[in-house]
Amino acid sequence: MSVLEMNNIQKHFGDLEVLKDISLSVNKGEVLSIIGPSGSGKSTLLRCAVNLEKIDGGKITYNNDVMADTHNGKVMYAKKNELKKIRDSFGLVFQNFNLFPHYSVWKNVIDAPIHVQKRDRAEVEKTAMELLEKMGIADKKDSYPCQLSGGQQQRVSIVRALAMKPDILFFDEPTSALDPELTQEILKVIKELADEHMTMVIVTHEMSFAKEVSNRIIFMEHGVIVEDGTPQEVFASENQRTKEFLGKYR
Ligand code: ADP
Ligand code: MG
Repeated sequence: MSVLEMNNIQKHFGDLEVLKDISLSVNKGEVLSIIGPSGSGKSTLLRCAVNLEKIDGGKITYNNDVMADTHNGKVMYAKKNELKKIRDSFGLVFQNFNLFPHYSVWKNVIDAPIHVQKRDRAEVEKTAMELLEKMGIADKKDSYPCQLSGGQQQRVSIVRALAMKPDILFFDEPTSALDPELTQEILKVIKELADEHMTMVIVTHEMSFAKEVSNRIIFMEHGVIVEDGTPQEVFASENQRTKEFLGKYR
């Protein structure tokens, strides 16, 4: 069963066509990595998927609930109540952590599940504590983001996303703001989530990680999907552009 389907997605900023007819689907338990040069539209694609940007054409469906669809050239989004329900399906982990600086770690994690999702406080607190322990940062619960290392901040933002109990988690270059050692620490955390069959879409420049952790890899360039296949297929591709791009990481 597919958790996410994006069909014929189009997005432009003014005259700039950033996404040109992008289609992909992610099944439950699957890990999809998206690779491609800077400026190819990867972040825009994720931002459209999580409704931080509106699409200009195409269709987005979560678990058979339609978030956006196009009729007669006009994009229609689901109504507010439906959007709210769909919003609970996904979480996003950003490149720069995006924690609230004036909230403690604890408040960063429990605030939205209690106040946005309206879940029971005791249940949320139990979930939050378990996740912080699992990520090895329970002792940082009363710290503020500025008192943590980049790796710890990124673990908090992963906990914050998981505390919402999403069906699918998006990562936009989760390690690109981290030094090599902290990068490995975060990649290990994501690998563990993959082993637990968390459904994930990961934009990354970490090629060996993508190869190891993904069920599928998409190579994107200039707003189009150049390649979509298993890691073995993509890394063995004879496509000139794919070879050139991957060559840079060999
Ligand atoms: P990637 O994540 O692959 O590096 P992005 O999705 O960030 O690529 O950007 C794709 C293109 O869209 C780039 O040319 C970028 O400058 C442009 N772009 C992204 N966001 C905006 C925006 N809000 N307004 C105008 N142009 C944008
Ligand atoms: Mg980006």
